[in-house]
Amino acid sequence: MARYTGPVCRLCRREGNKLFLKGDRCYEKCTLDRRSYPPGQHGQTRGKKLSEYGLQLREKQKARRIYGVLERQFRNYFDRADRMPGITGENLLSLLERRLDNVVFRLGFASSRNQARQLVRHGHFRLNGHKANIPSMILREGDVVTIRERSLESPLIKENLEAAKHKTPPAWLELNLDQAQGRVLSLPSREHIDVPIQETLIVELYSR
Ligand code: SF4
Repeated sequence: MARYTGPVCRLCRREGNKLFLKGDRCYEKCTLDRRSYPPGQHGQTRGKKLSEYGLQLREKQKARRIYGVLERQFRNYFDRADRMPGITGENLLSLLERRLDNVVFRLGFASSRNQARQLVRHGHFRLNGHKANIPSMILREGDVVTIRERSLESPLIKENLEAAKHKTPPAWLELNLDQAQGRVLSLPSREHIDVPIQETLIVELYSR
C-alpha cells in the first residue's frame, strides 16, 4: 500500500493542528510553534473562513493524516464502518484505532505511527504467535501482539521499550513489558480514543 512520504510537518501546518506525526520528537521541537500558517506561497495571505464543506473536508484529511491512511483505504474504512451496527463515526475511529500499526504505537513499542508502520513492515511483531507484517490488519478483542524474540536485540526496539515504561497505554489495551507483549482487552470506545477529530463532520462529508 502506498503512503505519503513528503515532509510531515507540512501536514500539521495544513490542518493548523499538532498531529504529532513525528511521535515523541514533537514534544521537543515543533514547526507549528514557529510557522503556524498553512504551507505554500499563499499560506500567510489565504482567508481563514472555511465553508461547511471545507470544514468537513479538513476534518477528514486530518483523520487520514493522523493514521497515515490514503484516500481510497480511508473510504473503504468508512464504508465498512457504515455497514457495522452502531454509530458510523465511532465505528470508523474504532477501525482506525485497531490497525496493527496503531496498536503497536499505542502500546509504546514504537515512538510514532510512522515508525510503527515501518517496524511492522520489517516483521518485528507477531500476532497471536504468527508473523504479522501488514500494518493495516484490524485487530480483534483478545488478540495478542508480541515483539519477535530476535527483534528484542534491536537498539531501536530497546529504546522504545525503555520509553514505554513511562507511558500508559489506553484502557482497551493491556501491556506486559516483561513479556514484550500487548493484548486487546476490548474494542476501543469513543472515550478511549484521544484524537482531536470530530468524526461527525467526516460522516457528513461522505453522506453528501
Ligand atoms: Fe506536527 Fe510534530 Fe511537526 Fe509539530 S513537530 S508540526 S506536531 S509533525
